[in-house]
Amino acid sequence: MTWETIAKTDAERRAAVLPDPDRYRKTFGWDEARAMLDGLPDGKLNIAHEALDRHVAHGDGDRIALRWIGKDGERRDLTYAEMVRQTARFANVLAKHGLSKGDRLYSLMGREAELYIAALGTLKAGLTFSPLFSAFGPEPIRTRMEIGEANAVVTTASIYRRKIAKLRDAIPSLKLVLILGDEAPDGCVALGPEMAAASDAFETVPMDPEDTALIHFTSGTTGRPKGAVHVHEAVVNHAATGRNALELTPGAVYWCTADPGWVTGTSYGIISPLVNGVTMIVDEADFELDRWYGILRDEGVEIWYTAPTAIRMMMRAGTEAARDYDFSKLRFLASVGEPLNPEAVVWGKEVFGHPFHDNWWQTETGGIMIANTAAMDIKPGSMGKPLPGITAGIVDRADGALRDCATGEIGELALRPGWPSMMRAYLHEPERYAKVFQDGWFLSGDLAMRDADGYFWFVGRADDLIKSSGHLIGPFEVESALIEHDAVAEAGVIGLPDETAGEVVKAYVSLNPGFDPSEALERDIRGHARKKLGPAVAPREVVFRKTLPKTRSGKIMRRLLKARELGLPEGDISTLETDES
Ligand code: ATP
Ligand code: MG
Repeated sequence: MTWETIAKTDAERRAAVLPDPDRYRKTFGWDEARAMLDGLPDGKLNIAHEALDRHVAHGDGDRIALRWIGKDGERRDLTYAEMVRQTARFANVLAKHGLSKGDRLYSLMGREAELYIAALGTLKAGLTFSPLFSAFGPEPIRTRMEIGEANAVVTTASIYRRKIAKLRDAIPSLKLVLILGDEAPDGCVALGPEMAAASDAFETVPMDPEDTALIHFTSGTTGRPKGAVHVHEAVVNHAATGRNALELTPGAVYWCTADPGWVTGTSYGIISPLVNGVTMIVDEADFELDRWYGILRDEGVEIWYTAPTAIRMMMRAGTEAARDYDFSKLRFLASVGEPLNPEAVVWGKEVFGHPFHDNWWQTETGGIMIANTAAMDIKPGSMGKPLPGITAGIVDRADGALRDCATGEIGELALRPGWPSMMRAYLHEPERYAKVFQDGWFLSGDLAMRDADGYFWFVGRADDLIKSSGHLIGPFEVESALIEHDAVAEAGVIGLPDETAGEVVKAYVSLNPGFDPSEALERDIRGHARKKLGPAVAPREVVFRKTLPKTRSGKIMRRLLKARELGLPEGDISTLETDES
């Protein structure tokens, strides 16, 4: 099927059901979005109230909020009413142990149902919640707990013994360690009996909209992770973007595959879906092809939010692997975290009946900023357009003051500050925070360009841009061309210093099943890239790797490829996952 026919059938469907997106963009206002929430008396707000209490108050308490699927297939359904009771118990446990508004609770566990209860119970009690990825080792845990001055942590006995016990002296702020289950190591509190004994009534603490709610650490793709501070007001953005970018509607079955240890897994894996009243699927297990296809089919998933790394793994298994599954319930597919190669967009349509809708945002922005919404014609490879309420620009900061870039010109992607989920600080790094704001813009550190129709195209991280013989080359463009070669599963592209060209392009690729590294294959891939990109942009050299180095959130760490190539220090690798170079 060609993209033109896909676009046409999709446009017909959308025209029948959806309003004009550009008109909506003009009439949208944050005040209106805020007014759709309940709020609390005297201008107060609490994310937990909007995510849970509100639905019960409005008569939807019996709807399933969370369907949890355990590693071994066991299931647990929690209704909105049950979530209100469980989070109340958790909040009461925190209060009993002397924790109160402003204290900071960290979580360190897999995707257990309790993680979701802890997150919202913490917010309900007025504490700040900071989720850590459960596979972190002791050192990344220690730095993040130190930076955020953790007062409490909720974890499992096994993780505690392996990773936290020996850190306790190093983190004097840590007063309370809650352990899932009925037994706890010395110096810790077992959560099971405490929850059972606690009352299931708790009055959600009214917060100032500017009070801190969440601390999220960035992925560490470009350097040491930063602690981004988000406030309760962010929920206005989570609510609106859930509707405007992800088509979340009350009662819809929704699956966000991200772990709450990363911002996507909290903003769109906890807050946005629950505020919008959906039934969300939580899978405790990690990616496994048949498991994922099975969940999509058996749970009747309607809306699915995932990431390019997972999509590329599915593509690698081939269209055949999906043949026996019925995905007819699916109605909207979205992707975030890394550039989504055009081929992946079209592949979604072929296999699931719908294209993937790419959207762009960062830990710092707290929510989706630029997106291919359901009502838009997708241009495969583009991130889409700024969402209602968001003003985005492309700027150049070469000579001090910022300059607006022309249509089609590559520059830094910038946003007009003021959207509700904008980070309010980098913890303990005020100078770094101040530096990302200039001349009325928030500077994202990503390079992009805007076309004549107002669509934004991702080019690369500012640090990853390659300058070769007067050309500016974005790694994404080269990587996308490479993975269109039948043999290539994934690609990471960097620039290497070169006396004549300034820099030359080098590519690292991993191969699809059935292909083996060889000189002939290398030549063939380079030839394919030259045909697609021209000799100035195509990689001079292609090397084969079993896997590419990635962050635990699935982002290719190009800086590491480069450092290793040049024999430079590797820098902070606390979030590195695969490392079989
Ligand atoms: P660090 O800031 O610590 O280096 P990070 O930037 O990878 O890590 P995140 O905030 O998790 O941490 O990721 C946001 C970044 O991910 C964006 O700035 C962008 O580079 C990339 N990204 C996210 N979504 C997209 C997308 N749709 N297309 C292209 N890139 C994306
Ligand atoms: Mg970043």
